[in-house]
Amino acid sequence: MPKRLSLAQYTDGLLAGNRFVLSRAITLVESTLPADKHLAQQVLDAVLPRTGRSVRLGITGVPGVGKSTFIESLGMHLVAERGHRLAVLAVDPTSQRSGGSILGDKTRMNQLAAHEHAFIRPSPAGRSLGGVARATREALLLCEAAGYDVIFVETVGVGQSETAVHGMVDFFLLLMLAGAGDELQGVKRGIMEMADAVVITKADSGNELAAKRARREYQSALQLFPHAASSWAPVARTCSALTGEGVPGVWEELQRYLEVVRGNGFFEQRRQEQNLQWLHHSIREALEERFYARPDVHQRLAQLQLEVQEGRRSAFGAAEELLALGDV
Ligand code: GDP
Repeated sequence: MPKRLSLAQYTDGLLAGNRFVLSRAITLVESTLPADKHLAQQVLDAVLPRTGRSVRLGITGVPGVGKSTFIESLGMHLVAERGHRLAVLAVDPTSQRSGGSILGDKTRMNQLAAHEHAFIRPSPAGRSLGGVARATREALLLCEAAGYDVIFVETVGVGQSETAVHGMVDFFLLLMLAGAGDELQGVKRGIMEMADAVVITKADSGNELAAKRARREYQSALQLFPHAASSWAPVARTCSALTGEGVPGVWEELQRYLEVVRGNGFFEQRRQEQNLQWLHHSIREALEERFYARPDVHQRLAQLQLEVQEGRRSAFGAAEELLALGDV
């Protein structure tokens, strides 16, 4: 088997829903080699007409909140009982190990990982947030081309990756724990503001009342935010991924959301806006990469960095000098 497949092999395999080819195609979009990048863009362009027909759900929450368990539970409900084909992707810029740290541990997604209608892919490792986010967004498109009609994008609720994930999904779900402090568990207000639904996890084993109380608190907190452009009023719910109680209800909430935003045009409008955001994101990423790849920039940068560090040169002046070296 050659390392790289041909354009036709990638596109035919993807459109036929071949999981092996899908995996290889995702590896291709994650690659930083110029030849791979070129081929990856050709593959993406070729399958683009077959993308976009899925529901994209972002899932975030602090480590330990129960994301993997929830994904296993909701995921199994979708593939086993509702006839969906589900792809689970992740954005984890902190992951340095190959294979990624979140989703790397599939022990809580055993059943889902083994299901023929589920495809699970960990976060690409060892890249900047921008690089990871771009690769994940392209992987999302490839999964859609391969026939997955529900895509989950998981991220850890501790950094800036939520904004990146919010920019690639239709619905953003924030998982929270009850009783882990009345404060918002270090989850920043900005993340709450992005949430279309807040779900209090682990509402079982004697934790039910606390979960209900937390649900009421978050429901009131959500009402304080300005009315969303989607006309959707974010909801708070409880669930137990362990017993399955409340898990299908989260999916039903998403169906209600889709009814609202498909009806008022917001769904399509937001997808178009997201496409534009990704255009500009891609431009910035490409410009930056080309700039740093220039040998003259590389050479001069070392000296200028020293001068800026020691205060002998202004950062702005040094940047101007480097940018004047030539076109990127
Ligand atoms: P993640 O780090 O957010 O992916 O969280 P995990 O899914 O790995 O769950 C963290 C811990 O919480 C594990 O020990 C799970 O067994 C436990 N857990 C997850 N969901 C539930 C739940 O619904 N009820 C209870 N009681 N425990 C849960």
